[in-house]
Amino acid sequence: MIVIALNKPARKEKTRSVEPVILALETMYKKRISRSQQDSQEFLHLIHEALSLEDTNIKKSVSENEQFAVPPNPFEGELSTQIRCQRCNLLTPWKKEAFTELSVAVPAKVPRTYVHANFQWSCNLLECLSSTLTTDSIPDYACPLCTLQNTLLALEVTPTKPAPLLLATSRLRAMTTQFMSSPTPVNIDLDTILLPTGVPWKHIKVPAIKKTVISKPPRVLAIHLVRSMYERGYGAGRNSCEVSFDEDISVPIGGEEVEAAEREEAVVDDEKVLGEEKYRLMSLVTHKGYHDNGHYICYRRRKRERRAKVGSGLAEKEQLANLEVVKEEIDDDVPVGVESAPIEQVDSRTRWWEISDEVVTGVDKSEVLSKRKGAYILFYERTL
Ligand SMILES: [Zn+2]
Repeated sequence: MIVIALNKPARKEKTRSVEPVILALETMYKKRISRSQQDSQEFLHLIHEALSLEDTNIKKSVSENEQFAVPPNPFEGELSTQIRCQRCNLLTPWKKEAFTELSVAVPAKVPRTYVHANFQWSCNLLECLSSTLTTDSIPDYACPLCTLQNTLLALEVTPTKPAPLLLATSRLRAMTTQFMSSPTPVNIDLDTILLPTGVPWKHIKVPAIKKTVISKPPRVLAIHLVRSMYERGYGAGRNSCEVSFDEDISVPIGGEEVEAAEREEAVVDDEKVLGEEKYRLMSLVTHKGYHDNGHYICYRRRKRERRAKVGSGLAEKEQLANLEVVKEEIDDDVPVGVESAPIEQVDSRTRWWEISDEVVTGVDKSEVLSKRKGAYILFYERTL
């Protein structure tokens, strides 16, 4: 309700309190939430958890036929990870995990002793994101297929084998051949494979590559920049790395469904590219101050007035220019499903709101995009 209330344009100055939201969360979790010191990302996570809990409860209370009426959580997406063994080439099935906000690391600071006082380090949001959505090396992966092969080898070199061992050897050999020739990823659970008494698994650890991708892009992608750091001799501190970010971004999408679509050469929308999703910045929370105290300021895109269609008497060039304006303003419009409030008349130069406690002012896009040092949580909405 508070989101709907905040979305309604006000004709005069008004203050809305978040107290009812906090009280509802306190009732839900049966504990008190501090009013003085709060990490905005932790609070966001608490809200997301509460929404998921309510979502589960609503789905439980309605019949299966009615479930289509429960809208999906717009913040919920899915990450998938897959491991490839570098020794035997085993590819594990994608492991899926839901997320409501993505926490991405900001590059660590160069030690103070090496740089002059005004040194400023920087990176781009997509670089930070790709450090989370990446391929990592695992030096000591307990590969089940390598363990299977290793155990088989130990059995094969045993000179004289009683009948049960001979049977186990041929069974393991058949299994190994089957797993190695599988064209699709295989899930090997050693606990389900029986070995004769007295024969242990010959475990082996090998290098592997782990790949992490966004497999289901959420409608609203919340990116949290992890700015806490520990500096030797200084303790916990705030990482003020400048993170530049764009209004429009393309985020790579991967995983099982994308791979299946690629195999089938699925036809997608003209404007849509398989394996990527386009997002537009809708809101930004910045933090200024120190690691354990400071102040949050929020920036959010204003709802825009739709202009009338272009008249027929205009020159072609002017028509084209105006059409671009119309297109841009429709993109800026409120998402479908949000209560339609009257659209306010706004000064076209200030397309964003800056919200600092109860002080709300209009600012332009360039000011929002300049908050590179303070950017903390960014909210991007899917555009296609
Ligand atoms: Zn292996």
